[in-house]
Amino acid sequence: MAGPMLDVLVIGAGPTGLAAALELARRDVAVRIIDAADRPFGGSRGKGVTARTQEIFDDLGVIDDLERVGWRHQPRRVTVGGKVVSDSAPDAGAEPTPDRPYPSGLILPQWRTEEILRNRLRESDIQVDYGVRAISADVVDDHVQVTTERDSLRARYVIGCDGGHSGVREWIGARFDGHGGMQAMYVGDVEVAGLAPDRWYQWTDPTAGFAALCPFRDSATWQFQGVQFAAFDNDGEFAEPSLDTLQQTLNAVTGERAIQLSAPTWMSRWRVNVRLSDRFREGRMFLAGDAAHVHSPAGGLGMNTGIQDAYNLGWKLAAVLDGRADERLLETYATERVPIAEWTLGVSTAGLEKMTAAMQDSTATTLIPATEDGQQLGLGYRWSSLSHQTDAYETRSGGVQAGDRAPDGRCTGPDGNIIRLFDAFRGTHAAVLGIGDAAEAAQALTLRVNVGHTRTVTSDIDQTRNIYCGSSTGGLYVVRPDGYIGFAGTADDDGEAAAYLHLIGAAD
Ligand SMILES: Cc1cc2nc3c(=O)[nH]c(=O)nc-3n(C[C@H](O)[C@H](O)[C@H](O)COP(=O)(O)OP(=O)(O)OC[C@H]3O[C@@H](n4cnc5c(N)ncnc54)[C@H](O)[C@@H]3O)c2cc1C
Repeated sequence: MAGPMLDVLVIGAGPTGLAAALELARRDVAVRIIDAADRPFGGSRGKGVTARTQEIFDDLGVIDDLERVGWRHQPRRVTVGGKVVSDSAPDAGAEPTPDRPYPSGLILPQWRTEEILRNRLRESDIQVDYGVRAISADVVDDHVQVTTERDSLRARYVIGCDGGHSGVREWIGARFDGHGGMQAMYVGDVEVAGLAPDRWYQWTDPTAGFAALCPFRDSATWQFQGVQFAAFDNDGEFAEPSLDTLQQTLNAVTGERAIQLSAPTWMSRWRVNVRLSDRFREGRMFLAGDAAHVHSPAGGLGMNTGIQDAYNLGWKLAAVLDGRADERLLETYATERVPIAEWTLGVSTAGLEKMTAAMQDSTATTLIPATEDGQQLGLGYRWSSLSHQTDAYETRSGGVQAGDRAPDGRCTGPDGNIIRLFDAFRGTHAAVLGIGDAAEAAQALTLRVNVGHTRTVTSDIDQTRNIYCGSSTGGLYVVRPDGYIGFAGTADDDGEAAAYLHLIGAAD
């Protein structure tokens, strides 16, 4: 017997599924989230939270929780062949700027990020249903019927956030093309004696292998990563992880026995796999996160990209379910996210190649390169059918373009005080943003159009105008609920801005 009709069923409660459920729940969508596992995942694997994901967590109201338990500017000590070759935080000098409040990545274990998202979800009265494995899904008339090991569920839409071995991907008949590789390593969470927990230690020995130990704030456990070249047999296989194999790897690579590992809480083997689903949607079923794309952990983009998939899809599904936007809005999920996934596969593959080369280079000073790309702030959707820019805006030079991430800045708040743009954007709404000479047009537009799902924001602060408009006198923008500039025009383009608000379901 199928239960009541849900709006959305999220299958999988990793970081992607939790972010998707949260995005929907805070828009009052009837959502349920199930996970096959008996309990929350307890490993540290995706430990890097990029600057862009921090902006999303700011919007979701959880950034303070992350900053409390995460480390920013964590120093790294790199030792090559027994010699310390660098000992500093790669982003030590990075400070917040007016357009970019989160200057660098945060390091915290993935289980903590998931815990913070679960706690936030609970505030919307949604709990993950653990121990519920989905085993098939069929589209029936206007909904999807999902069979689990326990019962049958009905939902208007399903989001498959069920990880790299996704069943949803199989059920929609998608191919997962790509390749596996030889690169592999152990990962695990252990306690460590013999090292001060004040930096991320990375060792390489061109003949022995690679090892790293990363401590976490307010936690006894560290993340171990490492591989010993001699551990592979002729077929490229290597032993199951155990405390002994982790310790042997560490000893072989560091050439000493002074560091002792103990009390493992999670251990795993990882082997590179670079694959992309040939579709991210089939009718009422979507794929997000590792279910849609997997790649090397070099650069630490997997969890971040999954969360950003969910952030792209959530507001669109809510607007369509609510009848505010046409169903065609959902087509833009794949057109926007597939190129981002392709980019992610490319940069993480390049990052892994650099890391592999550095491991075999006795003159290397960096093993895990920290890149600007890696913060994901430059990613956007300029090519998207949802990125509209008027001809008048086009002729200007400098400033942001439709499709770009909407930068932070300062603006006048409701009480006349100066606040951050991100304070004004925070929440489930879109924003009509009038800067400089377009401030009046923005006000007039929101009086004329019934913009129940939009907030008007104006700024006449020079610094903000420079960030957004370059050398121009102003600009009229619509910032999508996920913080990208959907529409860019001039003060005279209010008619086109109004049409755009209807297109994205931000006007009734
Ligand atoms: C060593 C290592 C280091 C990494 N470092 C980083 C990093 O620094 N930064 C980063 O962004 N990423 C990193 N990653 C990648 C990151 O861990 C993953 O990309 C991320 O976990 C993907 O999240 P997800 O929610 O899409 O999938 P998952 O976390 O795999 O979650 C999928 C969930 O679906 C559930 N499930 C599966 N099948 C079913 C079913 N049939 N029914 C119900 N539930 C189901 C599973 O139980 C699971 O809980 C790293 C990965 C590794 C291995």
